[in-house]
Order: sequence, then C-alpha cells, then structure tokens
Amino acid sequence: TKQNGGKNHTVYNYHLGRKFQDNNELEEELIRAINDQSISPYFQPKLDLSSGKLIGCESLARWQRTNSEYVGPDLFIEIAEKKHRIIELSKSLFLETFRSISDMGLPKDFVTSVNVSVMVLLDDNFQKNFIDYIMQSGLALNQIEIEITESCLIVDFEKVKSTLSSLRRKGIRIAIDDFGTGFASLNYLTQLDVDTIKIDKSFIGQLDNQAKSNRVIVESIISMSHKLGYKVVAEGVETCNQLKILKALNCDFIQGYLISKPLNNFYFKSFMNEFDFT
Ligand code: C2E
Ligand code: CA
Ligand code: CA
Ligand code: CA
Repeated sequence: TKQNGGKNHTVYNYHLGRKFQDNNELEEELIRAINDQSISPYFQPKLDLSSGKLIGCESLARWQRTNSEYVGPDLFIEIAEKKHRIIELSKSLFLETFRSISDMGLPKDFVTSVNVSVMVLLDDNFQKNFIDYIMQSGLALNQIEIEITESCLIVDFEKVKSTLSSLRRKGIRIAIDDFGTGFASLNYLTQLDVDTIKIDKSFIGQLDNQAKSNRVIVESIISMSHKLGYKVVAEGVETCNQLKILKALNCDFIQGYLISKPLNNFYFKSFMNEFDFT
C-alpha cells in the first residue's frame, strides 16, 4: 500500500489486491478477538535505579491469531481505532490488567501503567468508567498511571489538558510516553500537570554508540524533567552499559529487555516473586 508508492499501481495490482484481502481477514479476525476478549495484557516491569527495586510495570496488549502468529499492538491498535472498537478493546484490557495486578498482592506503592489512546481519552464517559474499573479491582487510584503519547497532545489540547488534570486531582498518575518524538512543543508540556516523562527508546538505543550528541539529548531531557518536578523513565534499555550511563545521568527508572521482556500474568507474577537485583 503506502510503501508501494503511487507510481507503480498497475504493475503491483495483484500484490495490492492480495494485501488488501489479507487486511480484511485481519480486521475481521481482530473484531472476533475483541468480542471474545482474547487479547490480553502482558506486563513489563520498571526498575528504580536508586533502590534496585521493581516499582511498577507497564501493561502491553498481546494478540495471538488463530494461526498462532503474534500481531504487534502498533498495528492492531491502529485497526481497532479505525474500526471504532478501541474503546471496547481498551475496556477489556483495563479490567484484566487491574484484576491481574490486584490478585498479585504487590506492595501498595507499586504503580501499574496503561496505554490510553487519544480516542479513548477523549470519550465522554472515559473518566467515570476508568475510575470505576480501578475501584472494582480493589486497587487504589494512585496505583494506576496513564501513559499518553506526546503526539496525542496536539489533537485537542484543551480537552486533553482538562481531562488529565481532573484525573490527576483524583490521584491517578500521568505519564508522557515516547517523549522527544512527537513534535509537541515544550510550551504544551509546561501547561500540563504530569508525574512522569518516558524517554523514547530510539534515544536509549543510541546511547551505546560514541556520538556525544545522543548522551546530551538524554541528559537534557532528564535535567529539564527534574527541574519541572517530573520523574523520568527510560524505555527500551537493553544493555548494562545503557543502564550505567542512565544511572550516571540521574535517570529515575528504567524499563527494557535488560530487566525483562513483557510477560504474561503467570510469568510476571513469578518474576516479581523471584527478582532480587541486589
Ligand atoms: P509503547 O507504549 O512505546 O511501548 C513500548 C514498546 O517497546 C513495547 O512494544 C515494548 O514491548 C517494547 N519494548 C520494551 N522493552 C524493549 C527493549 O528493551 N527493546 C525494544 N526494542 N523494545 C522494547 P509493543 O508491546 O510492541 O507495543 C507497541 C506500541 O503499541 C506501544 O508502544 C503502544 O503505543 C501500543 N500499545 C501496546 N499495548 C497497548 C494498549 O493496551 N493500548 C494502547 N492504546 N496502545 C498499546
Ligand atoms: Ca507506553
Ligand atoms: Ca513508549
Ligand atoms: Ca511507541
């Protein structure tokens, strides 16, 4: 489709047709999966660099197709949005996330993050429903964090801002995801009340190579965030060297394959029980 460019449509007609058909199948199967609630949350832990403890996790959606292939959430979330099923999908993911985490009996200050797309956030019933889902699980509002991508801020800034600040007054934490990639101006950021900034993994992946500029960008995001009173999470941390650099730069928390990939309910629970970083 897009990748095939505009010029060669006639030449690639067959392939486009085939691709289109696959996509229809995928969409239909996705809608069935949403109806059956067979898309589940996996959990990826977050490590506190100063204490060495696991202080939270992020919930990430996983969908295994009937042919047992996994489809990435980047793709199926986008389809769910396009098909107007994202609110329904998010609801079942929120409910299962909160119930699973609540059942694990983690410490009271353990914070679980969920990704909320802008369509979901701007739904008029979102706030009331979301709080209701948390309460039903037995978790406290301050044990939940909402991750909003930086690019979502530019959709309807005034409404996003008032929704976020109202949720935050009730104790729910707010994180800006993929920071540094979304072209949101810093002016937006200073007008928002948030708790956490997540540095996008594209910046973290580049920390290992020699170019000094990458380190300078990460260092600046961290020091600016701290001056504004935000905590900083680095995502996509894969190497010990990245960990060491981030620790030296005073980053608060890290998340990435170095600690653990996202795990299902069962494996996450045993990972939490067995983890000892000291
Ligand atoms: P994201 O929120 O930025 O999530 C981080 C992505 O980085 C996840 O990809 C995660 O599995 C991956 N990751 C974690 N550690 C590492 C690492 O060390 N190295 C590398 N290379 N990658 C790492 P995933 O699970 O494929 O999710 C992709 C995106 O899909 C997410 O990006 C998020 O925007 C979206 N997404 C996932 N689950 C949900 C959901 O339940 N709701 C919504 N609205 N969006 C979701
Ligand atoms: Ca996220
Ligand atoms: Ca991210
Ligand atoms: Ca992302």
